[in-house]
This record gives sequence, C-alpha cells and structure tokens, in this order.
Amino acid sequence: MERNGDFGSGRALAGPAPPLPRRVVDVSGHAVGRDFVLIAGPCAVESPEQTLLTARRVKAAGAHMLRGGAFKPRTSPSAFQGLGARALEILRAARDDTGLAIVTEVMDPRQIGEIGEVADVFQVGSRNMQNFPLLRELGRTDRPVLLKRGMNATLDEWLGAADYVLAGGNDRVILCERGIRTFETCTRNTLDLSIVPAARTRTPLPVIVDPSHGTGRDDLILPMSLAAVAAGADGLLIEVHPDPPRAWSDAQQQLTPDAFDALAAAVRALVAHLGGTCP
Ligand code: PEP
Ligand code: MN
Repeated sequence: MERNGDFGSGRALAGPAPPLPRRVVDVSGHAVGRDFVLIAGPCAVESPEQTLLTARRVKAAGAHMLRGGAFKPRTSPSAFQGLGARALEILRAARDDTGLAIVTEVMDPRQIGEIGEVADVFQVGSRNMQNFPLLRELGRTDRPVLLKRGMNATLDEWLGAADYVLAGGNDRVILCERGIRTFETCTRNTLDLSIVPAARTRTPLPVIVDPSHGTGRDDLILPMSLAAVAAGADGLLIEVHPDPPRAWSDAQQQLTPDAFDALAAAVRALVAHLGGTCP
C-alpha cells in the first residue's frame, strides 16, 4: 500500500492540520483572500478594439481585474511575442475606461519599471516561477505579485519561490495553480486542484486557480472553475476573447464573452451557496 506522508507523524490519527490564518492581499480595493476574485481577459493584447470589448464585457459580467499579456512567454521565438509597449498603452486605456485593475506578465527584472507604470498586479508566469533575480526584484516593489505555479514544480518549490518575493519585504503574493505536466495528453496540463487545500495547510497566502491554462480546453473551463470554488480557491483567472478561433495565442482555451457571462453567474451562485462573498 502506498504510504501517505502523514503516516507515522501522528497526524493521520489526529486528522488534517488546521488551516493557517489567511492573508488578505489588497488589489485596488479588492480584498483577495477574503472576497472571491474573478480575473479575466485575453491571453494576449492584440488590438485596442479586442481588449476594450473584452474588458467591457468581463466588467459587466462582474470581473474585478483585467488580465492581458503584453509580453508573452512563447515556446518558440518565432511565435507572436506580444505587442509589448503598445499593449501596455492599450491596457492603460482599458483600465481608464472600465476601472478594472490590470494584471499582466513580467518576465525580466529590467521590465519592472515599464510594466509597473500600468500593472496593478505583476504576473509571474509558470516558466518564470524560479526566475530568482526577477522574484528578488519584485520583492523590492510594493505591488501585488500573482505567482503561477511552475508546470513541474512541487508545493515546496512553489512556496520557496514565493519566499523570494516575501523575503524582499513585499508580502502581497497571490499564488495561482495553472496545471502541471503529467502523462495525460487529453488536456494541455493536469489541473491539480488538490494543491488548493494542501497549500492552505502551509501558507496564509491566497490561492487562485487558472483552469484556462490548466486544461487548455474551452469545454472544460466551466466544470473545473466550479470544482476550484468547491476546493476552496480564492479566485479564478480565465482567458476571454471576443473571437476565440481567431485569437493570436491560446485559441483553444479562450471563452467567448457570452460563455464568461454564464461562468461568472454559476461561480457567483456557488460561492454564495458555500457562504463566501464575491462583491
Ligand atoms: C498566461 O497566463 O498567459 C500564461 C502564459 O500562463 P502560464 O505562465 O501559466 O503558462
Ligand atoms: Mn494564454
């Protein structure tokens, strides 16, 4: 029989470890870790029209933050790398129009100044979870950091990465599960929802879930979003595009605005049913 790590420690008899106190991370007035948070938007900023339309629709559906990639970490250097500085201007305009807080990815410590002009939250992507110079530099900022789990990272490695930011004096870290690599090929990654309650026993930091990259399949986003709520996630990160088949990146996993409307309504109903709040 496989032995669970708790056997021999006495914990198996004592029951699960009690959850730690929870840290609330303020993002532009949203209390992440207390209130359930919806972060939505396109994989990549492609044009002012595409971004603004998406921003207005996800805002109307009740999203709290707009996500959109300006600098994209692509597997191939010949794939679309993001619009860069132009995308940051588009995100700024979308924030001015909708009031949504902006979440966008930073890959290099040298980008922090430029991206920090626009981003309310610095996203660290899966491929950069152990980019230690980047994490250290983000630790010197006062801006919230959304730290995605590396696709091959254990909980210990993920929390170690978070410690790099915390050690610099920035305690505003939000963890994001986005799927890990397994042998399964019917999904892009395997969304590890067990990490949500497991992380609770180890860290006070909020934990959100990204079923878009976690599954890579638009048909699986709604059920896995509901499962994430049931597992105790503090929020969701969802890719939304006005015309997913024509998206310049991650076309298979982006929801239409109409599908996001339905998802947001279902998620809110489940959060409320479970006694949570989603203002
Ligand atoms: C993204 O959120 O656009 C992204 C690239 O995600 P990940 O780092 O999880 O692959
Ligand atoms: Mn993407």
